Amino acid sequence: MSSIQGSTFSSVAVNNYSNGNDSTKNTTNESSNKNEQSNKPEKTARVVVKASEKILKKENEEKELSSNNKNKEKATTSKQEKKESESNLTLSDVKFIYNRFTKARGNPKLLQIFSECCQSYIMSYQKDGSGRLLRCYLDRIHHPLSLQQRQFEKFNVKSSSGINCPSCNSLVASPMIYKPENRPAYGLLNGKTFFKEL
Ligand SMILES: [Zn+2]
Repeated sequence: MSSIQGSTFSSVAVNNYSNGNDSTKNTTNESSNKNEQSNKPEKTARVVVKASEKILKKENEEKELSSNNKNKEKATTSKQEKKESESNLTLSDVKFIYNRFTKARGNPKLLQIFSECCQSYIMSYQKDGSGRLLRCYLDRIHHPLSLQQRQFEKFNVKSSSGINCPSCNSLVASPMIYKPENRPAYGLLNGKTFFKEL
């Protein structure tokens, strides 16, 4: 029984989907005739039809875009996988922050910073201007979210945590205030990190 009902619903749904509203009435009648316990099925039938419409629409879209989607899916999964552990940002993913600090220093570039101990990805960082990388300002960290969010938290040189290697947990940078600008930052510990420019 249930399989018959199921096929009825789906063929009704096909009609309804292609013919528009008129067939909705037929749908309700049909299903209430066939459905033995049905004085209330009008709503149910509609819901079912709606649901199958949705499924149909989805299926069609999926068929149309299937090759497209497959490629997209691949791209997103590999992106997401990378996001967890590794650097994933590309230049096009990042909106550089431009403000007075950028003006004072010069054009920004995107660096990916790694730990020297385990070669683990630590963060994607916007470095304004040229010059050596000595510290990372909190408001220039683009990724990962856990570090990027720290700029919105309370910052205290003595009590805030530094940055640790995500693999072995060794400290690679400690909190500081860059006094000339009164700006929260992480001072990179000597020889604990290296970076690549994107
Ligand atoms: Zn490590």
